[in-house]
Amino acid sequence: MQKQNHYPHLSHKEVMGFRSRLLNWSSNNFSIYPWRKKVSRFHGLIAEILLQRTKADQVVPVFELFRKRFRTPEILARASEKDVLEFIYPLGLHWRAKKIIMLGRHLASHGSRVPDTFEDFIKLPGVGEYTAAAFLSFHMGKRAPIIDSNVVRFYGRYFGLEINRDSRRKKWFIKFADILTPAKQHKKYNYALLDFTRLICKPRPDCQLCFLSSSCQYFLNRSN
Ligand code: SF4
Repeated sequence: MQKQNHYPHLSHKEVMGFRSRLLNWSSNNFSIYPWRKKVSRFHGLIAEILLQRTKADQVVPVFELFRKRFRTPEILARASEKDVLEFIYPLGLHWRAKKIIMLGRHLASHGSRVPDTFEDFIKLPGVGEYTAAAFLSFHMGKRAPIIDSNVVRFYGRYFGLEINRDSRRKKWFIKFADILTPAKQHKKYNYALLDFTRLICKPRPDCQLCFLSSSCQYFLNRSN
């Protein structure tokens, strides 16, 4: 099949089938991380910032120490950039220390209230569109399609889409991700995307283990 740079028309049955296979897989493969349990909105937001371009397993010990040391935005606001850097140093991307401090100070000066709309959220220091969507989905229970490079890779492979590093910002791709995200169980679906692209549809995919291979364009084209 020729690759396409717009989304394919999928019937309602195809969309439902795709979602339910992913959700079923997730029921047996859900990864437990501390930020997936009950955490404050503030710590949920910190987790999403620490997870930017960083492996979840690496984030676990840093997150646990961070939330003990900085229990509230006020405590974080009184810290220095150096204090924060000490905690997040093992994760790299050290510019995040400054962003995290700015975030703590911003929240502390706004009554420590974490916003609950996408529009207000992306105005926060250190928060981009992906972080905003992930926070709203995972910590506020709101339906928000999440699109990171792993999700782009997975959808691109499975549906045979022409993708590149800019696809996640393209209207057609955002629309397609929105169509695939269910009205109910959207949070579970988004977790399934994160887990599946981390465990199976990785940069070097484990197609032999994949329950989607019989209908995956990438796999079918490679096998022909
Ligand atoms: Fe990804 Fe391979 Fe599964 Fe296709 S068959 S979705 S490429 S792991």
